[in-house]
Amino acid sequence: MSAVARSSFAFDNSYVRELEGLYEPWQAATAPSPRLLVLNEELAVELGLDPSALSTPAGIDVLVGNVVSDGAEPVAMAYSGHQFGNFSPHLGDGRALLLGELLDSGGQRRDLHLKGSGRTPFARGGDGKAAVGPMLREYVIGEAMHALGIPTTRALAVLATGDDIARDTMLPGAVLTRIAASHLRVGTFQYAATQGDPMLVRRLADYAIARHYPAAARGDNPYLTFFESVVEAQAALVARWMLVGFIHGVMNTDNMTISGETIDYGPCAFMDAFDPGTVFSSIDHGARYAYGNQPKIAQWNLARLAETMLPLLGADPDASVAAATAVLQSFGVRYQQYWSAGMHAKLGLHPPTYRDAASDETADGSDELIAELLALMLAQHVDYTSCFRALSSAVSGDDATVRSLFTEPVAFDAWSTRWHRQLSTRSRNPDQIVESMNRVNPIYIPRNHHVEAALAAATTDDMQPFERLLDVLAQPFSERPGLEDFATQAPSGFGNYRTFCGT
Ligand code: AMP
Ligand code: MG
Repeated sequence: MSAVARSSFAFDNSYVRELEGLYEPWQAATAPSPRLLVLNEELAVELGLDPSALSTPAGIDVLVGNVVSDGAEPVAMAYSGHQFGNFSPHLGDGRALLLGELLDSGGQRRDLHLKGSGRTPFARGGDGKAAVGPMLREYVIGEAMHALGIPTTRALAVLATGDDIARDTMLPGAVLTRIAASHLRVGTFQYAATQGDPMLVRRLADYAIARHYPAAARGDNPYLTFFESVVEAQAALVARWMLVGFIHGVMNTDNMTISGETIDYGPCAFMDAFDPGTVFSSIDHGARYAYGNQPKIAQWNLARLAETMLPLLGADPDASVAAATAVLQSFGVRYQQYWSAGMHAKLGLHPPTYRDAASDETADGSDELIAELLALMLAQHVDYTSCFRALSSAVSGDDATVRSLFTEPVAFDAWSTRWHRQLSTRSRNPDQIVESMNRVNPIYIPRNHHVEAALAAATTDDMQPFERLLDVLAQPFSERPGLEDFATQAPSGFGNYRTFCGT
């Protein structure tokens, strides 16, 4: 281990310093022969790290957890969680470690975290390991989300460990090195609240305020303002998921951040044909985490967060419940405003014109227009991403592509006439409308068949399809020649897609 790689991380570990009781110091398992599969060079630079040093054997040893870098203080973080609605008091990092925190080039504090780094005191029956496929999946979907402008944790690297791990078959093992604004989860608050020490939740909330919502500290009721800030961040986040057709798949309270970043890419996937009932996850039998349920599940999770903080909100329990409930109920309006503004932008109708200042109903019938388009897409099984992207071509006079997506184009034509009428009331020319629509309607998303093909190749040591997919998804809005295959739906032979938690 060269001194250069070992000391090149300037760790400053506020979580370990300030939140004793919410972690267990722990060491990563040794990876027998670590190999770098993919390194996020752009992110490394953002973190003030040297990508070439990270690629050396010494750098790889740090990224995989074989060597504890100077200043790192690896811990398994404690958390609880409602999993599919059932409370598990003792989850925590069963196969993950927080190495420490770095200040990035913009001065932002970022967690450096390992996933797949061996059993911890929270491992319960698990082996503490992760397979190459699911870790690369987290990498590529996270990068796609980032390029789409959606807040997300990001992968710095995926390393093959050289271990074989037992799943349905033996699979190559991997460690994901993950970067996050923090790993504070709704479940972290739930864990703190179950420890029988009222000061622990307060310490955690103070920490979360200082780290993520410092303005809340200046309000009359910092804890209520903090809760409101998380509600706002999650309303914005889930609206953005919905606008691109993203399905998280396992929105347990331990998989929901306080920061408002998307976290824990397991059985997630992007929807093809528009259908609020879409579920990909093989374990989501009740469709709890279906595409269309995501906003209400987010609100349900936020209610669990509120419960942990009631004692902080004031001396009168009834008043605390009333205040928290009012904030919680504001989720619906906040979400709707983000979603509606986003949908108007997707249709070139931004900004929406509201009936009056206090209303979230539009005056021009554009809400109805949006609802009717979605109803047509549902009835005719229209691909969500392709349809929105093709609508911009219709603005410049070519409506053949979008029409071809509808099995009964006559109904679409009637809708389109009314849409064009609305567009003509906006003071923008067609080029401006097309340009604005193409900035919000991606042409390239991580199509399930491409993701699966890239992961299958990577599992047999061919990283080329994965690299190419990453490259395509890095610019989701700009159409490039030669990438037509990445812009189209899966061939019919791909069948019904199923995803797995990847544990
Ligand atoms: P996840 O489904 O990845 O969000 O994980 C849910 C919980 O199960 C977390 O507490 C994880 O740390 C734990 N877990 C998942 N897979 C494993 C594994 N292979 N070994 C130990 N713990 C695991
Ligand atoms: Mg998780």
